Amino acid sequence: MSTLLALAPMRMEARAVGRGAPGALVARTGVGPDRAAAGIGGHLATADAHAVRAVAVTGVAGGLVPDLRPGQVVVADRVLRPDGTLVAELLSATVLAAALRRDGLPVTVGGVVSTDHLVRGDAERRSLAATSGALAVDMESATLLAPDWGLPTAVVRTVADTPGGRLVSPGSATDLVRALRALTRTGPAMQRWAAAAGTRSVILAGPRSYCAGVERAIDTVRRGLERFGAPLYVRRQIVHNSHVVAELEAGGAVFVRELGEVPDGATVVLSAHGVAPTVREEAARRGLRVVDATCPLVAKVHTEMRRFAARGHQLVLIGHPGHDETEGTLGEAPGIRLVETPEDVAGLDLDPGRPVAYATQTTLSPEETAATIAALGARYPHLTGPSASDICYATHNRQEALAAIAPRCDLVLVVGSATSSNSRRLVEVAERLGVAAHLVDDETDIDLGWLDGASTIGITAGASAPESVVTRVLRALGGLGPLEVTAEDVRRESVTFPLPLEVR
Ligand code: SF4
Repeated sequence: MSTLLALAPMRMEARAVGRGAPGALVARTGVGPDRAAAGIGGHLATADAHAVRAVAVTGVAGGLVPDLRPGQVVVADRVLRPDGTLVAELLSATVLAAALRRDGLPVTVGGVVSTDHLVRGDAERRSLAATSGALAVDMESATLLAPDWGLPTAVVRTVADTPGGRLVSPGSATDLVRALRALTRTGPAMQRWAAAAGTRSVILAGPRSYCAGVERAIDTVRRGLERFGAPLYVRRQIVHNSHVVAELEAGGAVFVRELGEVPDGATVVLSAHGVAPTVREEAARRGLRVVDATCPLVAKVHTEMRRFAARGHQLVLIGHPGHDETEGTLGEAPGIRLVETPEDVAGLDLDPGRPVAYATQTTLSPEETAATIAALGARYPHLTGPSASDICYATHNRQEALAAIAPRCDLVLVVGSATSSNSRRLVEVAERLGVAAHLVDDETDIDLGWLDGASTIGITAGASAPESVVTRVLRALGGLGPLEVTAEDVRRESVTFPLPLEVR
């Protein structure tokens, strides 16, 4: 059974696609909207008769913007008429484009405009780009996607002529060959895309996404930009998420690793993960204005460590080496030992006759630290820990919510960046329950192969991941077929933290 119906205008385009997608049904539509319209009833019938799962309009196209090169692949996220009217939105375009990139193809995602004639001059290209906002032009997509196929659809075109390098010009034959070769190379990814198409259910784990500490940290930078203007320096990633960092950078935030990169007298925001006292001392010495976005729950851990140190306790921190939060907490008192696992406890050289106190990295849940705490207790009978109120609610809640839905899922997607400790832990939670799980920074990280056979997908997001990215993932999955989305909230969160005084 073929899953992909590929529609291509000319014989040479159909052949190129067929070579790359041998399992696909490839149909010729003829060139131009009239021929395409005349054959559409037949194509719809073909799709029906062969239980096709997805339809891709393919072929070569003209580039409208100067940076497109011959052989570049354009995946349409929308198909337009020359006046900019929207004909179709193609929701899975970014996922398909990512699959093509993984196959080594140069890919751009954007609008494709369909005209009723071959566009030749640069003036017309410029005008079309301006009126439609499209990247490339063809003559068939608008016609072929006007009817409701009731199936996932895509437009994948390869650029054959570019501004300044028209189809009928010296060298144009080479450009056409490049475009056709690229078209052949799009075949495998288009087949994977079609194989991933189907009806699905999604269960959204709740709570997910931002915790109160992350919201406060992001708002601190936004308000700081409003109040102090750009550039506003931020030490380390304000929260561990690439989208958040990119958005704030676009607004004028400048992320630095150390204070040495901040000019004297400038304003610097300290990230949610907290800093060692030496960082504050350096800022004071340098005359920097500090806005402290340290999460109050992290600050509480720091206070506890200082309190225990003042009472003469030997100190142990359970956390991940090299994490921003761990580095900050370790700086609170000399001689704090860092352990990650119960095995690490065996290597400690503390005096068993003196009291020992421990704290944990906030992004570790009680379940994750239980074995290490037990090992500490067995080795050091005078062990004291933090009070229950010091444990971060957000990590625990997100893990609990995912554990509640994961056993009913074929696949779990955790939205979060690879740098986010609590997001990576969520992947482990699902895997411990025997469910395939993957961390995705956004929908472009989704490997189409994961979706094959996955009819129920669980989705959650780490505490530093924006809900807007969850929406993007849902939208992309919706572009692969009908999606039934249910939200399951195991509990509601009402925690909020006031903003730092400097930005209130
Ligand atoms: S995960 Fe917990 S400790 Fe970390 S920023 Fe969020 S609320 Fe604060």
